[in-house]
Amino acid sequence: MGSGQVTTSVPSGPSEFQGKHVTVAGLGVSGLPAAKALHARGAIVTAVNDGDDARAREQAAELEALGITVRLGDGATLPQGTELIVTAPGWQPDKPLFLAAGKAGVPVWGDVELAWRLRGPDAAPWLAVTGTNGKTTTVQMLASILKAAGLRTAAVGNIGVSLLDAVLGDEKYDVLAVELSSYQLHWAPSLRAYSGAVLNLAPDHLDWHGSMDAYAADKGRIYEGNQVACVYNVADPRTEDLVREADVEEGCRAVGFTLGTPSVSQLGVVDGILVDRAFVENRQKNAQELAEVADVDPPAPHNIANALAAAALARSFGVSPQAVRDGLRAFRPDAHRIAHVADLDGVAYVDDSKATNTHAAQASLAAYEPIVWIAGGLAKGAEFDELVAASAKRLRGVVLIGADRALIREALARHAPEVPVVDLDRTDTGAMLQAVTEAKRLARPGDTVLLAPACASMDMFTNYNQRGDAFAAAVRELGA
Ligand code: ADP
Repeated sequence: MGSGQVTTSVPSGPSEFQGKHVTVAGLGVSGLPAAKALHARGAIVTAVNDGDDARAREQAAELEALGITVRLGDGATLPQGTELIVTAPGWQPDKPLFLAAGKAGVPVWGDVELAWRLRGPDAAPWLAVTGTNGKTTTVQMLASILKAAGLRTAAVGNIGVSLLDAVLGDEKYDVLAVELSSYQLHWAPSLRAYSGAVLNLAPDHLDWHGSMDAYAADKGRIYEGNQVACVYNVADPRTEDLVREADVEEGCRAVGFTLGTPSVSQLGVVDGILVDRAFVENRQKNAQELAEVADVDPPAPHNIANALAAAALARSFGVSPQAVRDGLRAFRPDAHRIAHVADLDGVAYVDDSKATNTHAAQASLAAYEPIVWIAGGLAKGAEFDELVAASAKRLRGVVLIGADRALIREALARHAPEVPVVDLDRTDTGAMLQAVTEAKRLARPGDTVLLAPACASMDMFTNYNQRGDAFAAAVRELGA
């Protein structure tokens, strides 16, 4: 999300928000710029926030200075006269505020809906990406490809720049590469992307959405009203089901991506080459070479899938095969996403601290063999049987850390009883050094020591970045 620095160019004509009573729910990264943008368009804004901490007070003071009413410490009651709520995406739909809004017939928009409605008449089209895992990587690959095609673009949304900043700022774009979370999609009823992609679907955030079906349905909203292509994952049939359920523009096509040989209207891989059989003339017979697997960093299977999805969206926008290749070659992944830290005594040390759920960890574990796996942390209600059963054959050993490590240990006992496990019963700052030391002891030349915790980090670290940094520091210390 962005910094909240909106350089607002307010349209000169009358605004649909003039005199409208709008409640902005939640201060912070999306709430602050939303409140300012609405106020600048003549809305009578009340900002409400659950918390009442120092940061919230600071933000409240900033809004109050503009003449915006702020209510701290009470995000539950619907302010009288509210005609519209603009909510922070993370606010759960069953909150009393929304129940009250539902009863009163007050619409609720999220930050994405607001950005969509406020974008100008000649606004850049959106190429939108969602999925349980791989969103950030795919959107960055897509932006890199679009740039290589000479287009003015940015990776925006649930990443870097906020959508509001992108659509209201002075910078002109030809097309936007947009990352959307399931929360954002939930609150974005009228969004109509040029083309959209659902990368994959695995249980996540189910407490928020209420059920897997509700989670999938929110993800599926990305396809609503697509103009050119609905991009789905051939290996994940639920994503194709969502395409079938969507109402799209006449002529919009379903385009699949696969790690195998592509059928007609798919992108896929043939002999180490990424090929397009969707956006080519005479696709019954022809395929277009786009790039080599080796052009993708890292060339792990799930990352090739991300590259294919990014390529499909770019090709739907008319980007050339050369630009796809150049953009993929120029792309470098963000930190802590399968980052190669060092080789010590013939053993590779890889930091995938961003693998905070089992689906992500399973993708990472599928990319190496044999592996000494460092795992554990906060499980967030996850179960580990499928992950462990699918990965058991690749494991040289396992080092467990963190609060919920017993869950993984039990799954290992069930599905990989012969794999040696070191269970670290400590959560202090030195724990990671001990974990890496134990992993080094278990590893043999040719192995990979992989930090792919399958869990959140907050039991031991501030966030996944700090966890990954601790891993890298430990590796460097052992190598020194
Ligand atoms: P997101 O923005 O959806 O969280 P990221 O691109 O930041 O996704 O990647 C998060 C983690 O998910 C990575 O560290 C990797 O472990 C895993 N991952 C990335 N792409 C995929 C994919 N296509 N399928 C499964 N896991 C993936």
